[in-house]
Amino acid sequence: MRHALIIGIILVLSLSACSQGEENPPKWWKGNLHTHSLWSDGDDYPEMIIDWYKEQGYHFLSLSDHNILSEGDRWIDTTRNNSGTRAYTAYVDRFGEDWVETRMDSSGYQVRLKTLNEFRPEFEEEGAFLLIQSEEISDGFDGKPIHINATNVQELIEPQQGGTLREVIQNNVDAVLDQRERLGIKMFPHINHPNFGWAITAEDLISLMGEQFFEVYNGHPAVNNYGDENRPGLEQMWDIITTRRIIQGRPIMYGMAVDDSHNYHEVAIERANSGRAWVMVKSDSLTVTGLIDAMERGDFYGSTGVELVDVKVSNRRIAIEIKEDEGMTYETHFIGTRVNHDSTSTAVEHEGSYVTRSYSPGIGEIMAVVEGNNPVYEFTGDELYVRAKVISSKLKVNPYREGETEVAWTQPVVP
Ligand SMILES: [Zn+2]
Ligand SMILES: [Zn+2]
Repeated sequence: MRHALIIGIILVLSLSACSQGEENPPKWWKGNLHTHSLWSDGDDYPEMIIDWYKEQGYHFLSLSDHNILSEGDRWIDTTRNNSGTRAYTAYVDRFGEDWVETRMDSSGYQVRLKTLNEFRPEFEEEGAFLLIQSEEISDGFDGKPIHINATNVQELIEPQQGGTLREVIQNNVDAVLDQRERLGIKMFPHINHPNFGWAITAEDLISLMGEQFFEVYNGHPAVNNYGDENRPGLEQMWDIITTRRIIQGRPIMYGMAVDDSHNYHEVAIERANSGRAWVMVKSDSLTVTGLIDAMERGDFYGSTGVELVDVKVSNRRIAIEIKEDEGMTYETHFIGTRVNHDSTSTAVEHEGSYVTRSYSPGIGEIMAVVEGNNPVYEFTGDELYVRAKVISSKLKVNPYREGETEVAWTQPVVP
């Protein structure tokens, strides 16, 4: 009896010692950091949206409504809202009359929007699904939209405004960083859709201080991901920013891919639907701190469908392992700028205002194209940086633009 007890104790002790000694191997977690709901101009109830993402296998999600957090007492009309009765009927069907709270007042039949604190426990599961509070700080300057997401923001941030466009961006970024500092809680700003309203140039982002992230791909149909004949697309802007910042000895910016979904009832290219783009973050835990630490290290990639098994970076090479997708082939572009590139640029004026300058093609050149599932790039010693764009042969379902194939973007590596 006594022996059994002692053996039992030893067993328990050794088991707990064992589990303490074991490190969690990092995993890839899938998430969308830019999502709208009926709390602002999205057209569905938060629970319906979260339910969809969780069902689709996402591990984390931020609802990032315009200048509002999902908190406080908020009633909306069940028929006169962004989606009319359609969303309400489906909401009641899915969550039941006991969950959905309604009232009748002089203006009509109303439903109360549930708060993050209320719906969080319905969805969150340790190691499986996480909600991160967020806000899209929606400011502007001279008619140009300046939108900046605050991921894991704890207190609402009002648009900060400013005397110039760059000041508006900087003030909002600083407001997020100040809150982080004051509360001692990890959170970060990220610049949304720079080409929306052609508001933000590459030079604006080069000059910005303290900002590490921007959207290199946003699923909303109105954001001009690919630029136009006068203005560069977001990938090209990324290469300009990366090159100039390295030359200035400043931190580079990481590119993220997001949905910016607003429309949940009609699936079409011209609607801002869910599932177009996301980030995959490599972290040992599905926690806000784990995810933010990993993203700040650049341990993540943006995707519109391509899945990577691993991205291994050393001072000699970048080695990528692409997850097989039956019948699909892959081409990986290793893109970067060489130390001895032509660094001249010229101003570009379009419709009376300055847009992103024109740079030499040596900025963001395709340094190598590698086919297959295990592309490798060996540094030659003359690169300022190299990043990878993995392009699948698979046509994207419900893309941002007709004809897109699935893609993944890894972060720039400065050798
Ligand atoms: Zn926006
Ligand atoms: Zn948005």
